[in-house]
Amino acid sequence: MALYEPIESADARRHLLLRSPVTMEPVGELVCANMEDVAAAIAIARKAQAGWAATPIRERAKVAERAVQLVLERQDEIMDTVVRETGKARADAMSMEIFSVVDSLCYYAKHAESFLKPRKRRVHGILGIAKQLRILYKPLGVVGLITPWNGPFVLVMNQAVQAVLAGNAVVAKGSEVTPYSAKLAQTILEDAGLPPGVLQVLLGDGETGNAIVRGGVDKVSFTGSVATGRKVAEACAGQLIPCTLELGGNDAMIVCADADLDRAADGAWLGSCMNTGHYCCGTERIYVVDAVYDEFLRLVLEKGKHVKQGAEHGFAEDVGAVFWDRQMTIIEAHVEDARSKGATIHMGGRRNPNLSGLYYEPTVITEVGNHMEIMCFETFGPILCIQRVADEDEALRLANDSEFGLNGNVWTKDKEKGYRLAAAMDTGSCSVNDMALSYGIPAAPFGGRKSSGVGQVNGKKGMRGYTHEMPIVIDRFGGKMQNAYPNNVKSAEGMRKLMDFLWRKTPLGRWLA
Ligand code: NAD
Repeated sequence: MALYEPIESADARRHLLLRSPVTMEPVGELVCANMEDVAAAIAIARKAQAGWAATPIRERAKVAERAVQLVLERQDEIMDTVVRETGKARADAMSMEIFSVVDSLCYYAKHAESFLKPRKRRVHGILGIAKQLRILYKPLGVVGLITPWNGPFVLVMNQAVQAVLAGNAVVAKGSEVTPYSAKLAQTILEDAGLPPGVLQVLLGDGETGNAIVRGGVDKVSFTGSVATGRKVAEACAGQLIPCTLELGGNDAMIVCADADLDRAADGAWLGSCMNTGHYCCGTERIYVVDAVYDEFLRLVLEKGKHVKQGAEHGFAEDVGAVFWDRQMTIIEAHVEDARSKGATIHMGGRRNPNLSGLYYEPTVITEVGNHMEIMCFETFGPILCIQRVADEDEALRLANDSEFGLNGNVWTKDKEKGYRLAAAMDTGSCSVNDMALSYGIPAAPFGGRKSSGVGQVNGKKGMRGYTHEMPIVIDRFGGKMQNAYPNNVKSAEGMRKLMDFLWRKTPLGRWLA
């Protein structure tokens, strides 16, 4: 039984029946926005954007401030919706969808004005005498925002707040399996005072997403798989519009001989199983140096005895359901490939026989290697794959031997060594003595390398990425133009002398230059 299936409809839209990944019972029907709906939404957005961009940034920021209180007040309703659609553990819903969203709203409310206010920048050299340079952060217009199912509320909210505070309108679409969690972003921001039309979260599937990407928007912010990311990049290239692509990962964890092993074992569990392992920066490969491998594995297995999986979805459970049967197929295929190639499965390695619905047991696998799918591709499941390595050099070489480069983590008591190893990781970001955290730290620019993405989101850079940084050069003095036509030999000679003065001959010239 699939998580969603098309159903007959009498109108011109695709209708899908959605099921709960926990009970597999129907939880709702999704009517997908078609091309006409998307075109209408983009037209509404374009109209709304002009007035919104004229609203002072401080006023725009107040919407985010009010949204903080609304998210806090409605946290149970938000978590209920997210858990109903995803089956994630309630504690994951709280940390990832509530805490992160509130933190991000606060951050952008506080910093939007300073990130986006026009700036004067000194013009270098001799031109600085006569010219003034101002930089303006102009909204791009209408942004298309496409997001996946693993963080259905946070991934819409976090990008939408940056784009709208920067003065854009947004036409967004969450995943077809988590549409109502995504829709909550619009409800909350509108209730916080965002004018209608500035953020529209459409319901729909890949075809709806494709219609947004090709519908005449001014930028696309995409989060999802590598395969869809490529299609989005091609569509944007054809229209010559910018995009950011936040794609998949296959993150490595390196455990050094001097690591705090107890903390590292906790970090391995959390990094691999948070959000049922459906975390783009989830730990997928764990490299442990020989000297501490046995003790690390012992600790991991000991802690594994206490990892709880259940169908109540109260705060006392650790690992929730797999959110989508499509992902379950990938998880099972990767584990079976590893098993058939000689990996040892210490715990888990199967669906939870005590629970109906899409539950995969928390799993620990060793004797793994790069000839196995589970080490080369994104598995996105609650699985710890642990490999023994001779030393840190081998760990680093294997960590970087991947087509992905999203995040990673290094564990050592020597922080400087941790910093050096982290810097040598070929990834968008890295943590020392913690699981991957950078998406949850708004000031950290976030984005992958290699197949993990293009461009960066979040922080000052991410917010400004929703604007055009427009330089305006103003002449200070007026009067006759120095370089007015007609050109002649004398004026060329004058220019040559000026260049000699500035860059060749005199200390005064070099100072001015
Ligand atoms: P997906 O690519 O299948 O879908 C993502 C979104 O794109 C969905 O809303 C989908 O409906 C839409 N879509 C599908 N086809 C489209 C098309 N042709 N044009 C436009 N939109 C289209 O990905 P998914 O399975 O939903 O998400 C899981 C992936 O997302 C994983 O690989 C995960 O690592 C990645 N992810 C990355 C980050 C990050 O920040 N790097 C964060 C979360 C998830």
